[in-house]
Amino acid sequence: MRVLTWILCGVLLLVTGGASNAYVSGHSQSVLPPARSEGPLHATDAALTAGIALPAAHAKQETVEKAVATKIPVLMYHSISDNPQNRLCLAPTRFAEQMEYLKQAGYHSISFKDLEDWKAGKPLPVKPVLITLDDGYRDNYTNAYPVLKRLHLKATVFLVTGFLNQKQFLTEEMVKEMAADGLIEFGSHTRSHADLTTLPEDRLRSEIFQSKAELETLLGTPVTAFCYPAGRLNEKTVNYVEKAGYHFAVTTRPGYAELSQGVLLLHRVRINGDLPLDQFKQMLP
Ligand SMILES: [Zn+2]
Repeated sequence: MRVLTWILCGVLLLVTGGASNAYVSGHSQSVLPPARSEGPLHATDAALTAGIALPAAHAKQETVEKAVATKIPVLMYHSISDNPQNRLCLAPTRFAEQMEYLKQAGYHSISFKDLEDWKAGKPLPVKPVLITLDDGYRDNYTNAYPVLKRLHLKATVFLVTGFLNQKQFLTEEMVKEMAADGLIEFGSHTRSHADLTTLPEDRLRSEIFQSKAELETLLGTPVTAFCYPAGRLNEKTVNYVEKAGYHFAVTTRPGYAELSQGVLLLHRVRINGDLPLDQFKQMLP
């Protein structure tokens, strides 16, 4: 029922042209964006008021043209490694060329934190794109992170907390290092990557609530984004995700993310295997 309410609210939001009161009135407190006390705009305002000189990157961010976005491509990656047999693995050279293209073509990478503005009907940088990497493979640190850092692109890694520190996955130290420079955001992808549609209540609660708490303890910041393992979900799953206090959740449903889908049922663009650059370009708006 709540899923239906979100969908209706999303439609209502579009019909009312972003009247935030209409959107807010149908929601419980847990899915509302928190009052933002920090972030680029606020920090800049504060600095300007105080007469503090901002670093160049910060100042540059302020000159970015903004517009209200209706559709946002949320790119879905997994492992960034040379493994042609596995469709979940994208070659590092391919990943680098895709990221370079995003930069050259004027796309602006944003985070789920930035999506709070989208939810509130506020403008985002033009040509927004969300780069997401599922499962927390160690190659996200060794192969993807250096590229993202070089190009100054934001990305979100969805971690399975029970996989942390295991051989092929990120260590807690890597996660903390990546979080420290502000480019990489982390979301929950549960504790064990279980199919959430098959679990008893206590396991469901643990996978959705506990993973959030574990990540918040590790990172020392709120974790607001969730990713359903293998895109498996039902109404009960989504209700738990809402109750746990996530602001956004992504699925494997294909297409661009739109508010009409509901903020806990956002669609994504799957980037698989050795996707050639020309095909990658065609997948973007
Ligand atoms: Zn996954």
